[in-house]
Amino acid sequence: MTLHITAIAAFADNYIWVIGREGRNDVAVVDPGDATPVLALLKESGRTLSDILVTHHHSDHTGGIRDLLTAFPEAHVIGPDNDRIPALTMRVQDNQEITILGCNFQVLTVPGHTLDHIAFFTEGDTNDSQPFVFCGDTLFSSGCGRLLEGTYAQLLHSLQRLAALPEKTRVYCTHEYTLSNLRFALHVEPDNIDYLERMKECTILRSEGHPTLPSTIGVELRTNPFLRCHSDSISAIIQTQFGPLLASELDVFARLRQWKDNFQA
Ligand code: ZN
Ligand code: FE
Repeated sequence: MTLHITAIAAFADNYIWVIGREGRNDVAVVDPGDATPVLALLKESGRTLSDILVTHHHSDHTGGIRDLLTAFPEAHVIGPDNDRIPALTMRVQDNQEITILGCNFQVLTVPGHTLDHIAFFTEGDTNDSQPFVFCGDTLFSSGCGRLLEGTYAQLLHSLQRLAALPEKTRVYCTHEYTLSNLRFALHVEPDNIDYLERMKECTILRSEGHPTLPSTIGVELRTNPFLRCHSDSISAIIQTQFGPLLASELDVFARLRQWKDNFQA
């Protein structure tokens, strides 16, 4: 049996990920900001909804929950312990193991973008050795979420936690931000070959109408400046740009995040 993941595009640049498992008729969805395209897909494919996974409380990740429950009242709603998320049936904590479609997932708390933010990680099912992670708005391909509720230290630690997952882990984030993230990455490090190659590859994917996701942790370690704040290259660039006293990885990360906040791609 194999898990397979499908993207539903929603709003301007969201993806609602649909998790299915061979031999089963039910599916799980991640961060359904909008119920309409999910209900259309389920209707068309004759599938039912067993679980709704929620990474954090923002409405573009939760706005479809109530309408999905109207159609599938039995579905579980699994997310962090936050009353701003509607209709939770299971409030999960760090390192908690949960079962989705008969497959084990681990909850990772990854605060920073919001304080309640979590990610869902699985090694895959028994015959599918490639792990994957649903990381919401924490880690994006070549970028990271804005710091809205937490501290820079929290967000950096959360990204380090995701970066420590196996390199082959497929990364399913909630937004298609890759090209604009790469424009910023190349603004910071114009000669970085890995960024240039990833830009080429993702430009083709987008021009053909495909998502640039999933990425992998291995790709992100090479092409995501926010995972490279310990590198001599980024550290030297930040010191040239903002002053020589910014030596620690956390200083570099905070300046890089602020730089991107003010960058028009
Ligand atoms: Zn968000
Ligand atoms: Fe979002």
